Amino acid sequence: MHGLMMNMPLNISSLIRHADRYHGDTEIVSRLVEGGIHRYTYHDAHRRSRQLANALGALGVKPTDRIGTLAWNGHRHFEIYYASSGSGAVCHTINPRLFPEQVVYIVNHADDRCVFFDLTFLPLVEKLAPHCPGVKNWVVMTDKAHMPESSLPLMCYEDLVNAHSDDYEWPDIDENAASSLCYTSGTTGNPKGVLYSHRSTILHAYGACMPDALNLSARDVVLPVVPMFHVNAWGLPYSAPLVGAKLVFPGAQLDGASLTALFDTEKVTCSAGVPTIWLGLLQHMEANGLRFGSLNRTVIGGSACPPAMIRTFEDRYGVQVLHAWGMTEMSPLGTVNTFKNRHLVWPKEQRDALQNKQGRVIFGVDLKIVDDDGKELPRDGKAFGDLLVRGPWICREYFKGEGGNPLRDGWFPTGDVATLDEDGIMQITDRSKDVIKSGGEWISSIDLENAAVAHPSVAEAAVVGVFHPKWDERPLLLVVKKPGAELTREEMLKFFEGRVAKWWIPDDVVFVDSLPHTATGKLLKTKIRDDFKNHKLPGA
Ligand code: ADP
Repeated sequence: MHGLMMNMPLNISSLIRHADRYHGDTEIVSRLVEGGIHRYTYHDAHRRSRQLANALGALGVKPTDRIGTLAWNGHRHFEIYYASSGSGAVCHTINPRLFPEQVVYIVNHADDRCVFFDLTFLPLVEKLAPHCPGVKNWVVMTDKAHMPESSLPLMCYEDLVNAHSDDYEWPDIDENAASSLCYTSGTTGNPKGVLYSHRSTILHAYGACMPDALNLSARDVVLPVVPMFHVNAWGLPYSAPLVGAKLVFPGAQLDGASLTALFDTEKVTCSAGVPTIWLGLLQHMEANGLRFGSLNRTVIGGSACPPAMIRTFEDRYGVQVLHAWGMTEMSPLGTVNTFKNRHLVWPKEQRDALQNKQGRVIFGVDLKIVDDDGKELPRDGKAFGDLLVRGPWICREYFKGEGGNPLRDGWFPTGDVATLDEDGIMQITDRSKDVIKSGGEWISSIDLENAAVAHPSVAEAAVVGVFHPKWDERPLLLVVKKPGAELTREEMLKFFEGRVAKWWIPDDVVFVDSLPHTATGKLLKTKIRDDFKNHKLPGA
């Protein structure tokens, strides 16, 4: 016997329709790539998304066609999200920080039919276009006055939108139909496409709003620093309209000064981004003696948030850090670090230690850890093993079946090694490929990096395993010093004493000017390992 409730498909268009109807005057503010600030409302965004949906139809875009974007966070990008997915096409956000050859691969693999891009990316597009014959339209996301000179036949976004009426009914779409596509950064091998559905996107948006997740509401002003090309800005362009939160898009300017200016003028309450972005922002705040006005929480994830950063935000600036973990394959949210009642009465030191973990699982995501034989390990906060996940917003297969079946007995292997406790609080020990195997025991590179960046002279740190004739691998620490800071190898090594187990202390320290990052701002460990694979450890 079936239940007798309406069978209404979960469609992405319902989010913008709802935001228009009930939060129509709530603002969306964008820093434009062309300069200046753009300001309008959910009502305007809905109208222009419908105009754009008509425009896509006129360009011959059909359901399931892929619409590529090479764009910063801004109102036009937001309109493309809704016009493409809402009309049945697939919004394919491309990370412009990838190498041009990778972007060519992705555009062709996705069979993008049109590509919309910000002015910033014209030089990139001019390089790509000759290698992407399947793209019928290259659309510059600007107005006529800012249209660039180019040998390519480019279309102007504003002309395209303005040429069409807003008389458009969002179609009912099978909720399991594809809505959007995002490629993983692919630090090894070719990037693989994760194809989200309307259903997975809406369920994830609900999940993200919950109080013990991002706690979003109509009273929030949300500034996603995390790019709309990095797992759909962690779903914020969907969650914000769901609750009617004001959105602030920072455009191309992600430096500390530009961000703090927007935080202040727009009275931002909630932000989100990877640790690297906050590094620059906090340095700017400190150097200029600034405070956060309205910001009360920020989501930090994508790589481990150093405990020192959490403490600076919370103890110095009174901004709650929501340490979160997820992956492109998980839409991306899996865990968010929020306390339960019994944690609140713990001594501060113990609460701080708890907060360094990646967080508590949210409803909709099932987690387990297993040993090498696939046997489930206890949820005791001590045992660690391969972290597996499943749930309605988790990938079951990559686009076009790339890489074969990724699942293990119906679970998605995250590639992370973690502990899990009875509250569902998860702590990542390491990426399985980054963990340092010393004499048959494991050393967490994340723990060592966290300990190193707690030193006041250290701006950034990376730890990799390098060959050791006796122990197989031993940790090597690379350090970027803060500008003007003095620090010796011996001082650095001494700093670890009492902070980590003695046998974990790195065997050597190398000071470097900078560290390589991936296109999503994470430490590029593959390159670091490669660069230092011949490093001779003292005593080795
Ligand atoms: P890519 O590695 O292609 O950039 P993702 O952005 O999806 O893809 O990265 C997911 C991985 O990032 C996770 O499997 C995990 O290793 C790492 N990660 C994400 N958030 C955290 C976090 N809070 N702490 C530690 N690692 C994290």
